[in-house]
Order: sequence, then structure tokens, then C-alpha cells
Amino acid sequence: QLARALAKSSGPGKTADGVPVKLLVNLGAPHELDAAAAADSEGVGLLRTEFLYLSKVTAPTVAEQTESYARVFDAFSGRKVVVRTLDAGADKPLKFVDHGHEENPALGVRGLRLTKRHPEMLTDQLAAIAAAASKGDADVWVMAPMVATPREAAEFAAAAHEHGLRTAGTMVEVPAAALRAHQVLEGCDFASIGTNDLGQYTMAADRMQGELAELLDPWQPALLELVHLTAQAGKDTGKPVGVCGEAASDPLLALVLVGLGVTSLSMAPSSIPAVRVTLAAHSLAQCSELAKLALTAADAAEARQLVSDASQSIA
Ligand code: PEP
Ligand code: MG
Repeated sequence: QLARALAKSSGPGKTADGVPVKLLVNLGAPHELDAAAAADSEGVGLLRTEFLYLSKVTAPTVAEQTESYARVFDAFSGRKVVVRTLDAGADKPLKFVDHGHEENPALGVRGLRLTKRHPEMLTDQLAAIAAAASKGDADVWVMAPMVATPREAAEFAAAAHEHGLRTAGTMVEVPAAALRAHQVLEGCDFASIGTNDLGQYTMAADRMQGELAELLDPWQPALLELVHLTAQAGKDTGKPVGVCGEAASDPLLALVLVGLGVTSLSMAPSSIPAVRVTLAAHSLAQCSELAKLALTAADAAEARQLVSDASQSIA
């Protein structure tokens, strides 16, 4: 029965009562492009651009970057592509940048923070994205990683708009950005929640530390609370709020995220069919009930159990 449901599943994501939820793919390397483009999705919700930089001994030129982005936009012609600007730092070091020594690279000069030291890296990247976008007809959005304050969000959006990129947003992966989501969203066009880092920073648990997996579980109610805050700020300001961290690829958790108010989910291409089928079997009201239940739990395991039990009684 599940196989038949999966085979039948196609088209835009929606709940059983027809509320649209965009299902998008995460893309991080050129060899993933064909599979990502072939997936039945409404586009790319997270284009990780580190692949253009990490192996290089000199910074990629604007022309080189433009060509790479154009290839992605071409493959997603007519669909949306959310490009995340470079997320490098001492944790993901660049050969052509002196990152210095950092005791705590996850808390250091990474993501948007690095561009304060090297402004040309951001302006070159925005110029390349804009040039590539103007050549094709993908709906190109840009967003910045590791934003902590509304001012950073607004400054990034202004820089993107100056380059002719109309839709500029903020990744919400630092708890401060979630706590100030209203102000963050007032200064930019959308938010995309990165649950991997938001979990790490909320739980004060290094995401590379396997021993802390339980704290890093995306079902942690504290993380869900921050998703809720951000999604509600999206509703209040009329701006889209999606999730692009790994949480979006768990069908049951996807129901909870939708119930908390997020309007798009971006995941590995292989996760899309199961998320689409599960979503289509639940109304928005049911998703909201499941989300409320999850928020009552004392830890991640209890949240998962409560939601799993309740969703079985719905089905
Ligand atoms: C995240 O932090 O959830 C995210 C999507 O970005 P990355 O995994 O690339 O840090
Ligand atoms: Mg991140």
C-alpha cells in the first residue's frame, strides 16, 4: 500500500485539506545536480555553495562562480533556487584565507561573519549569483548563514538587493536570530531554519560529537519551540519561513514542523516522496495538534513517541 502511495505521489506538496507546503531539495555538490533536478520538487531550498571554495587554493573568480550557478539555475529553470552564500570558517577552512587559530570554531568567525573581514568575498558572490540569475529563468533567492542579529539580516538583504537580487533572506540557525525573528524578518524577505546548527547552539552540544546525539536530536522540544517562534514571526510579518536542516526529512517531524507554521521543507531528494505522502494524509489542524503534543514533551524521545502514537490513532 505504501509502495502504491509513493508511486502515486507527485506534484506540489500539500496537507490533506489542501494547504500548500513547498517541498524542496538540498543540493551541495555538482555530482548531485542531476538527481536533485530529477526529483519531483518545487526547486532547491538550500544550495550549499562551499563546494566552489573549499578545494581551491585561490578564491574562485566571479566568472567561474557565475558558470557554476548558471548550471544549477539552468537545471532548475522555472523553479525556485535558494542560494546560501558561503558558509566557511575555521570549522570549514579555506586554503586562501588565514582563519587564525580558534579554540571554538563553531562559535567563531564563520558564515556571514567571515565577510566582515573579507567584504569582497560576499560582493563577488552576490555579483556572480545575480549574473547567473539574469541569464536564466529560475526564481533565484539568496540567504546568509550564521546571522545572529536583525542588523546583520538587514545589511545582508540590502547588499543582495543592491546587486539586483530581489529576494534575500536569513538562515535562522543561531538562537538569537530565532528569538528576534520578528525584527529579523522585518529587515529581509524570508527565513530558512537550519535545524542542524540551531540544534547545536540551542542545546550547547557540538554537532560533531556523536556522544551527544540525544541532545542533538531534532525532536528536542526546545528546538521546536524556536521553530515555532520563527514560524509565528513569519505569519505575523507575512514572510515565508521554511526549514532546510535535516529535521525536514523525517516525515513525522515534517508534520510537526508544518503544525508549528513553517511553509516549506527542504531535504535530500530521496526523502521527498515519503514526506509528501505523509503530509497529504494529515490536515493542517491535525499537524497543529501533533505540534502542540510535541511541545509538551520532556525530551526528544518523548516528543517522538507522543507524536507517533497520536498520528497512528489519526490514521
Ligand atoms: C543547518 O545548520 O541546519 C544547515 C542547513 O546548514 P549546514 O548543515 O550546512 O550547516
Ligand atoms: Mg548551518
